[in-house]
Amino acid sequence: MIIAANLKTNLTRKQTAKYVDELESFLNKNKISQEVLVFPAASSLNAHSGKVVIGAQNAYATVNGAFTGETGKEHLDEFGINTILIGHSERRHILGESQEELIKKFNFYKELGFKIVYCIGEPLEIREAGHEPMMEYISAQYEGIDVSYENLIIAYEPVWAIGTGLTPTLEEIESIHKELKKKSSAPLLYGGSVKVTNAKDVLALDNVDGILVGSAALYVDHFCTMCEYAQSIENKN
Ligand code: PEP
Repeated sequence: MIIAANLKTNLTRKQTAKYVDELESFLNKNKISQEVLVFPAASSLNAHSGKVVIGAQNAYATVNGAFTGETGKEHLDEFGINTILIGHSERRHILGESQEELIKKFNFYKELGFKIVYCIGEPLEIREAGHEPMMEYISAQYEGIDVSYENLIIAYEPVWAIGTGLTPTLEEIESIHKELKKKSSAPLLYGGSVKVTNAKDVLALDNVDGILVGSAALYVDHFCTMCEYAQSIENKN
């Protein structure tokens, strides 16, 4: 299973280093062999060797150049980073990233062989419009994306569930994941208000290959518990 933490614009460089150390020790001590990804803020990126894989929350489709405020491939190379998160709803909706821009980033980092966590998900008004419009909206987020890319991980994150404490029901998650798996056989994570209290149930669902966790992942002990849940579910299978 894949357990991913999106730390967003939280935790300083020092706090992130402590977080990664604690997580790494926990994984080793508890013999957790699941794939654990952590996406820190750009200024907290650092080289790390061990079980924890550090990824970038964002980067520009360039090696370097005149793109003020952006991070290029060269800057990720400096820390040995070859994992990236693309299409998060906060980047789509708050930072205004279009599907065209995402396709550019996707293709650029795909060519470099990066592991790409590609996020999709519908806002509340689309969900409320009914199942068909919702699936049409989500399908458009697959446009231009090579769904058979070997290093692709897809994260289904309903926008209305992110950071709100609201989640679809377990039945709804299972049913939409079943539909999404028809579009791509890439590992499919669920994200949106996953907490210690619901992680086990979500991880146990069919067609859920892992979770992408925001707020609750800021507490390293909570995130460690979720990694432990994933391991225990995998051990049972
Ligand atoms: C996220 O932002 O990717 C996320 C899943 O956030 P939260 O867990 O806080 O809903």
